[in-house]
Parts: sequence; structure tokens; C-alpha cells
Amino acid sequence: MAGKRIVVLGGGFGGVAAARTARGLLPAEHSVTLIDRNRVSRLCGMNPLLIVGERDVRKTGRSLGQLANRGIDFVESEISSIDTAGKVVHTASGGFEYDYLVVALGAAYDWDAVPGSELAYSFYNFDTARRLRRRLSRFRRGKLVISVTAPPYKCPPAPFETAMMIHWYFRKQGIRTDSEIMVTIPEPAPMAVAGPLAAQQLREDMEKRGIELRTGIGIKEIRPDAMEAEYSDGSSIAADVIVTVPLHRVPKIVSESGLTAGKPWTPVTAGTLETGLRDVFAIGDVNVVPFAEGKALPKAGVFASGQGENVGARIASRILGTAEPEAYDGSGECFLAYSTGQSAMVGGTFLGNAGPQVALKPPTAAGMRSKERFEREWRRFKI
Ligand SMILES: Cc1cc2nc3c(=O)[nH]c(=O)nc-3n(C[C@H](O)[C@H](O)[C@H](O)COP(=O)(O)OP(=O)(O)OC[C@H]3O[C@@H](n4cnc5c(N)ncnc54)[C@H](O)[C@@H]3O)c2cc1C
Repeated sequence: MAGKRIVVLGGGFGGVAAARTARGLLPAEHSVTLIDRNRVSRLCGMNPLLIVGERDVRKTGRSLGQLANRGIDFVESEISSIDTAGKVVHTASGGFEYDYLVVALGAAYDWDAVPGSELAYSFYNFDTARRLRRRLSRFRRGKLVISVTAPPYKCPPAPFETAMMIHWYFRKQGIRTDSEIMVTIPEPAPMAVAGPLAAQQLREDMEKRGIELRTGIGIKEIRPDAMEAEYSDGSSIAADVIVTVPLHRVPKIVSESGLTAGKPWTPVTAGTLETGLRDVFAIGDVNVVPFAEGKALPKAGVFASGQGENVGARIASRILGTAEPEAYDGSGECFLAYSTGQSAMVGGTFLGNAGPQVALKPPTAAGMRSKERFEREWRRFKI
């Protein structure tokens, strides 16, 4: 059998899981190449703790160069286009022909969608989280608002987790009584994807901590002094620190490739994560996997990783002529830390035959230990 070429685009949760799984199942005559513009990949899930000084900035990354130890060819390069007709990917380092393609390029942030964003703060990537960390270390009193632009956005619990961690931090600093924390979201309920019970529990948990929640409004613009923001319902909110969750979009090279078929995200068959083209898969934040009542699987690392494992195994089985793995079932749990000592967990199985089985489990010390273990395992490429 001639060696097959598997090319994986993106070295985040999904891409690494797909490459690692396929490589582990296939003999060396088949090549697995992973391409990413960055050598160091960062764990965004650490950001809600990083901004309050509870994670070491030097320990938030892993080097994709280490994939070579596992027989995966890592290429650090900007991908400029995907030619599905010619089965070749173009990059700043030349073209890469493939037999199997895994598109795991994540979601891109459109900061321009909210004019003035660059004057405000965020925690949605490493650089913005570090800047917010510096601002919070100087914060003494006043109002902080976390405002989401529009769904879908990565990790639906993240804005609430971040508010909880800022509440915890302000208490620790002895400034909670001199501060106000507010979260605004465009959805009618917090974390609606996890169902009404989870939303109600989260509302109560925030209320108990004095965190104000406004629903049904998306942030539209930040005034030039960065002290006031305008919202989709025409209202405005003045605050000392405005923190945004940016608008997420499918990366341009993916829409230009035709894989999105004109849709906002890449449609895939839920059980196989295959695009409209045979042997071309799209996994993680870049895709859309509907599950019920117009809802889609959340954009989260645990799902990207599970999808990568399923696709890696599926490609290996197609090459080896063995039975394909079971249909992807959309299971996974995200963390929602309430303090440095306690984390809740939200998730379950979204695509099973019994319909979505999703819940928010209360914050516990065991939940936090599990979050810390997740971070360690991620840094060691076990996830
Ligand atoms: C604040 C925050 C907290 C979060 N907390 C959690 C959590 O607790 N649990 C959880 O499961 N998830 C969490 N997430 C979500 C999680 O980080 C994402 O869902 C996950 O990273 C998606 O993985 P992915 O592989 O689809 O894409 P990504 O991890 O975004 O990877 C995409 C890769 O593609 C590369 N790329 C893109 N375009 C190009 C190009 N043109 N050329 C070359 N390379 C390119 C990028 O450099 C990147 O490395 C959180 C996210 C945030 C922002």
C-alpha cells in the first residue's frame, strides 16, 4: 500500500488530537503533517485565572515542535489557501498535497465589529488576558463590565467564570465593597446551551455574589474614552473597565475554500465530522454541529479534542480498511471555576440517541483538582 498523506491544519485542541490519534494507529509509511502559524499554542482556559494572577504566564503554553517526538511533522507556517479540487494546501513554506485533510483552524476574532475594542480589555487570547491582568492588579474601586458581542463564542461558561474569578479576587484584595461587577450577554439566559436548569442555577450563583446580569443585549461600540459602551437595544453602560468577548467568525481561508458553502461556519455530518467532500473533515470551533431546536454544539476545547480523536481514528480505519469508529456523540464537560479552590463543571452528552443530557454540577474542590489535572495533561500533549 502506498503511503497516504494526512494533513492537519491548526495545532489547537482539535488538530493535535486528530494528528496524535491518527499517528498512534498508523504505520510509519503514512505521513501526518500538522501546520500552524504559531509554534507555541496557548491554553485559553487558563485565562480566567491568569487575569487575577493565579496562573503563571510562563506555564500557559506548549510547543508544537514536540510533536516531532511522536512522529508528526510540524510545520510552522501561515496557511494562505486550501484548494480542495487540487487536494493541496498553500502556505508561506510552499504547498502540501494531501489524501486526507483535517481542517482545525478554530474561530477568528473580528475586533473591528465593535469599534473602540482596542481601547477596552478582553481575556479571549493570551495578549489581551495579560493586559487585563496588569489592569486588574491596579484596580482599587469602580465598575467593571464584561460584555459579549454576539453568539456563538468560545466556551459559553467563560464570561461567567471570569466574573466569578474577578469577584473572588476583589474580595481577596479587600475591594469588593468598593466595586461593581456586571455581565451583559445577547442571549436571553446565561449558558442557555446547557438548558434552563443550568441557566437558573448560574443566575442564582451570580446574584448571591452581587454580580449583576443583563441579558438580551450585545455590545455595539465603545466610546473613545473607553469609559462607556453602547448596546444593541440602544442603552449605554458607563464603567471604569470594559471587557469584551469579541465577535467570532470562521477564518477567511476556510470560507474562501468553499468548505462553508456560504454558511457562517463549516457544516459537517454530525457523526463523522466530514464536510461535503469525502476525506475532508472540519473539527472544533471552525465547524457547526447542530444538536436540537436550532442549537449547535458549543465551541470548546473538550469538544474539539473529542472530535479530533474521532476523526483521527476514522482516517486510520479508512486507510487500514478496518471498521470505522462509532459516530461522534458530542460528549464533554467544561470547567467553571468559582474561586481558586472550587470549580463547577458543565456538560454531558449532546448528540446521544437519548437527546442532549447536559447539566451544571455545583462547584467543588474535586472539580478544581480536575481542572488542574486537565491543564497538566494538556501541557503534556495527553489532551
Ligand atoms: C477565555 C476562554 C476560556 C476557555 N475555557 C475553556 C475550558 O475551560 N474548556 C474548554 O474545553 N474550552 C475552553 N475554551 C475554548 C477553547 O479554547 C476552544 O474552543 C478551543 O481552543 C478550540 O480548539 P480548535 O482546535 O478548534 O481551535 P484553536 O484551539 O483555536 O486552534 C486553531 C489553530 O489554528 C491556527 N491557525 C488559524 N489560522 C491559521 C492560518 N491561516 N495559518 C496557520 N495557522 C492558523 C491557530 O494558530 C491555532 O493554533 C476557552 C476559550 C477561552 C477564550
